[in-house]
Amino acid sequence: MNPEVEAHLRALVNFPSPPGVATHIIELARDPDIEMSKVAKALSMDSALSTKVLRIANSPLYAQRRKSENLRQALVVLGLNATLTLALSFSLVKSLRAGKANGISYPLYWRRALLAATAARALADARHHKMAEEIFLAALLQDIGMLALDKAVPDLYRGGEELQRNHLALAELEKNRLQTDHAEIGGWLMRAWNLPERLHVAIGHSHRVGLGPTSDTAEIFDRCVSLSGLVADLFLLDAEHRQFAATALAAERSLQLDKMAFGQVLGTIGAMIPETEAIFETDLLAKQHPELILEQARDVLMLRSLHALREINTLRAVAESSTSRALELEEETRRDALTGVYNRAYLDQVLTREFENATRHKWPLSIAFADLDDFKSINDRFGHQAGDRILQATARILRGNTRETDMIARYGGEEFVIVLPATDAHTAQVVCERIVAAFQNTGHVVGSDSARVTISIGCATHGSQTAFENTTEFIKAADQALYTAKIRGRNRSVSFDRQIPSKLAAGHA
Ligand code: GH3
Ligand code: MG
Ligand code: MG
Repeated sequence: MNPEVEAHLRALVNFPSPPGVATHIIELARDPDIEMSKVAKALSMDSALSTKVLRIANSPLYAQRRKSENLRQALVVLGLNATLTLALSFSLVKSLRAGKANGISYPLYWRRALLAATAARALADARHHKMAEEIFLAALLQDIGMLALDKAVPDLYRGGEELQRNHLALAELEKNRLQTDHAEIGGWLMRAWNLPERLHVAIGHSHRVGLGPTSDTAEIFDRCVSLSGLVADLFLLDAEHRQFAATALAAERSLQLDKMAFGQVLGTIGAMIPETEAIFETDLLAKQHPELILEQARDVLMLRSLHALREINTLRAVAESSTSRALELEEETRRDALTGVYNRAYLDQVLTREFENATRHKWPLSIAFADLDDFKSINDRFGHQAGDRILQATARILRGNTRETDMIARYGGEEFVIVLPATDAHTAQVVCERIVAAFQNTGHVVGSDSARVTISIGCATHGSQTAFENTTEFIKAADQALYTAKIRGRNRSVSFDRQIPSKLAAGHA
């Protein structure tokens, strides 16, 4: 940047540096060994921020069957990186929005920023890019240089909203007057704020749309961002100013998305708008109707002859329903037919995943191994069918006494395993005792008789106190604790303790 301009900016800009929470988040994100508990703690300092992160984790954007009830669970769903990035975007937007404008219209500014971010995310998804949240954040902040310039040079944007609606003309005006533009200033700010390199590169390049085939992920990152501004304009401008054809061509040459794929991206953006509006508390489309915008896209892109956009919609509906059918089928193969809880094969998958997560992020993971007591004699007394009904009731009792995020599986016969993510040894023990008590208090009506069935549980926790080599060792430990519970008289729960085997051996000796 022109050093004079830079000096001018440095002197003039009393630009808000990131708020405390954001600075803290940036620091955390730089630490490769960051612990989840630290992140959860940092976020929980700002309750509005935590609420938003929770809301995102439960939003359709991150379609999840498990509902996150607290920050830790949200972190598990979103992943650390995405959570940090989203938290950063919330806290930056919050602090920057609070400032006072000179020539610029803040509502218009933020509308474009959020539409561009939404567009960038949809483009990133269309290209199957793994860094969708970072791309979202870069697109969200791409014009932040305008906010800084508006402070530094108060009369710069006196052209008003009309100027602001013509992004390229606005950048030309900046260049004529200051020999720089807001993209360059934005990149400079990102560096000054110590934000990741990817952000300042993408923002610095945000007015240059790279063209030609590419599979380089860093290049695609930049292109999603630079294209996103143009796509945002399709939603932002009046009908006569929308450049559908030119933008579709840019999408084709820059991201190799053909018209159909581009039409689909527009549809996705339309679908994401309500959720983004709700989360950022902004009305993005003012008086515009997304259906009308999509209708126009179909006309101009000549998708009408194919009924393409409508077809895209139907296709999407079909795809969605076949996806949901596929999900249902997948779900069926995961379930135990008798009890409806997960089966052993799926337990192995989930446990492997949770075990890796827990080890990597150093958060605790507990499992409970449960086995009905003297079930053979129940079968002998009441018959196998009654036994089956008691197994079904067992699944219900387990479900009723665990959290939504815990996973229940039938290990085999009358044995069940419960996986409790982000749960420490003490909490796991409390849950197990609650289950034992629930069985004591449940009577099963069998014909004219009534039966009571008790349960024994062994639990183990993989965490800072005791770390297991692998899931086999982990399960073995819970099974060993269960064995101890049986020996001690059944109808109880016991936590795994490395000392137990020798204690028992001593007792038997
Ligand atoms: P313990 O307290 O030591 O666990 O005694 P137990 O009788 O429960 O133990 P064991 O594991 O020896 O016996 C399990 C019995 O569970 C054997 C079988 O009769 C019964 N069982 C296993 N699978 C099913 C099933 O699918 N349906 C029914 N009704 N019973 C089953
Ligand atoms: Mg058994
Ligand atoms: Mg048993």
